[in-house]
Amino acid sequence: MASPIGHALAGLAVAWGADLVPGNRAWRFAPPSASWYERAGNGLTLACAVLAAAPDLDLPFGRVHRTVTHSLVSVIAVAAVAGLTAARARLPVRRLVIMCAGAWATHLLVDWLSADQSTPRGIQLLWPFDDRWFISGWDLFIGSERRDLFSAPTMRRNLEAIAQEVAILLPIVVVLWSVRVKALAGFSSQLTGSDHPAK
Ligand SMILES: [Zn+2]
Repeated sequence: MASPIGHALAGLAVAWGADLVPGNRAWRFAPPSASWYERAGNGLTLACAVLAAAPDLDLPFGRVHRTVTHSLVSVIAVAAVAGLTAARARLPVRRLVIMCAGAWATHLLVDWLSADQSTPRGIQLLWPFDDRWFISGWDLFIGSERRDLFSAPTMRRNLEAIAQEVAILLPIVVVLWSVRVKALAGFSSQLTGSDHPAK
């Protein structure tokens, strides 16, 4: 199972990747003079990073871990809450549903691609209809250790896991960020009222 840092990076990738999809998104962009937080997509981008890591909040609940919150049902539940919230806030429903449910779903994907030292290995993707555990077996991410968190071997292992996640996911996030900045320069011009929007 990957670390919260790896999961959060995947959530950022979804937020900024979704901003590249054409449609109603001018509201997502701030002019270059705005703060970094606003230019990064403010609270919704942060929410995507948090949502991507949030399924592991089931960790303290022992046997429940990697079941309810790691299922397709949980993705649908997040989509429903995001849709209702977006409708209330008069924001584009479909875009918010894709971003929030997509961010949550990356957690399932990253865990599925990760090595898992626990038994049974993997996630109960089809909970509550099927109690089988799913894992790719590809061990793309070496996975973090959650037991004896402050012992030297665990800390070393987790630093390695985080370094590997950052090495794989950060380049993707950086590319998405730079493409997003270029693709959306036009929106910034509109927001600042420029007569000469960037080409
Ligand atoms: Zn997990």
